[in-house]
Amino acid sequence: MTAVHTPGVPRVENGELISTNPATGVEAGRLRVSDPAAVRATVDRARVAADWWAGLGFAGRRARLLRWRAVLANRLTELAELAHLEGGKPVADAIVEIASAVEHIDWAARNARRVLGHRRVRSRLVVAEFAAHLEYQPYGVVGVIGPWNYPVLTPVSSAAYALAAGNAVVLKPSEYTPVVGQWLVDTFAEVVPEQPVFSAVHGLGEVGAALCRSGVNKVAFTGSTATAKKVMAACAESLTPVLLEAGGKDAMIVDEDADLDAAAQACVWGALTNAGQTCIGIERAYVVEPVYDAFLGKLVEKAGRLTVGAGDGADIGPITMPAQIAVIRRHITDAVAAGGRAVLGGPDAVQPPFVRPTILVDVPEDAAAVREETFGPTLTVRRVRDADEAVALANAVPYGLGGSVFGRRRAVAVARRLRSGMAAINSTLTFVGMSTLPFGGVGDSGFGRIHGDDGLREFGRAKAVTRRR
Ligand code: NAD
Repeated sequence: MTAVHTPGVPRVENGELISTNPATGVEAGRLRVSDPAAVRATVDRARVAADWWAGLGFAGRRARLLRWRAVLANRLTELAELAHLEGGKPVADAIVEIASAVEHIDWAARNARRVLGHRRVRSRLVVAEFAAHLEYQPYGVVGVIGPWNYPVLTPVSSAAYALAAGNAVVLKPSEYTPVVGQWLVDTFAEVVPEQPVFSAVHGLGEVGAALCRSGVNKVAFTGSTATAKKVMAACAESLTPVLLEAGGKDAMIVDEDADLDAAAQACVWGALTNAGQTCIGIERAYVVEPVYDAFLGKLVEKAGRLTVGAGDGADIGPITMPAQIAVIRRHITDAVAAGGRAVLGGPDAVQPPFVRPTILVDVPEDAAAVREETFGPTLTVRRVRDADEAVALANAVPYGLGGSVFGRRRAVAVARRLRSGMAAINSTLTFVGMSTLPFGGVGDSGFGRIHGDDGLREFGRAKAVTRRR
């Protein structure tokens, strides 16, 4: 019989982490919780595996990573259904996510040698000529700590690049999606059975903290800004380098020469896909005066058509983390109390575990709904004089992950002025699937880059060797 529990709340019972669906409470699986000694033992085994893995060279690793890529591609539907069962996300959203992960494995495997491999460099020291070379050597064991909102893509975005660079990886998946995390590790072990090159530890946040203190050689963290600070503090004790992919509050700017239908459609996708539980989700829109009314009308009309529910065909699934519902509710009710108006949804849209799409206008810029990460299917829309005011307001939050600009003449200049790690012109959310471009933020959104050449270099230490002729 299928076990049913309090929906979505990860529970530890008799040393096991029990993972449940956020809408139905159906059990997705159980995993043994790793105590600090088990975390250290896993890292020790990974260290031995790291030497073997590094010794395979780029070609050996590439062949094995491409076999793993094929497993994910061939079993995409199975994994999407598991992600739906465990995290509640619609299967269609999971398929897009996994397809991106497959692309990242492919790219990292095929490009590691070009980016990290031995390269000759001509060097001079005042009078003498030197032969020199540069190469990026693996760190050893990389600890990857992941969130639940993209339980396949976020671990893969660090792990595939770290593995391609020659490191072993110990993954600590979110306690909300550990079964999906273990699936990734198990399928990797099917194609690389010789050594525990990619392994996992499980449990609540304290297991992540133990991983930071376990002697790993680098930590790649993806999660909230509050936890990123704790990870950095823990890693500082041993000067363990960190890569921090943290929260966001992305803005979208709509200029007067934008295609308003395309902008409204992209805004719906950017703000509401995955129930708004996306680090680069659009949470604020700044629209110039002449097109404000027309844009808002189209946006409300399109967003109002979305379906909400637990079924795998719904546009918007449940909120995965029950505690987040209180944050979403507070942001909506405070915004309305401060003079904001809901033109779609509103306080009544919060019906746990679901939140119907909510669009708020006239919200003061100091409200939590504008300044803090909401992480739900909500959006504030504000009328601005011109693109300059839009940029100033977009940049007035501590986060700086991505951002979008819709328009023609000024779009490139506006995108450059966004204080963010990424900017998309006439699209939203595009950066996440692009393996050739670096992904990451500034300010409270963290530092370091995943994906692309920069993402590979995060997982190799530059080693310079000079030789006097
Ligand atoms: P979270 O910070 O609560 O948890 C992330 C991971 O950290 C989990 O595995 C958790 O168990 C672990 N953790 C908790 N306390 C820890 C500690 N003291 N030391 C080490 N690890 C610890 O985040 P979440 O709720 O899982 O994910 C949502 C957040 O992630 C949002 O803020 C979102 O914006 C962010 N996110 C960022 C990106 C990005 O690329 N920048 C991508 C996805 C999600």
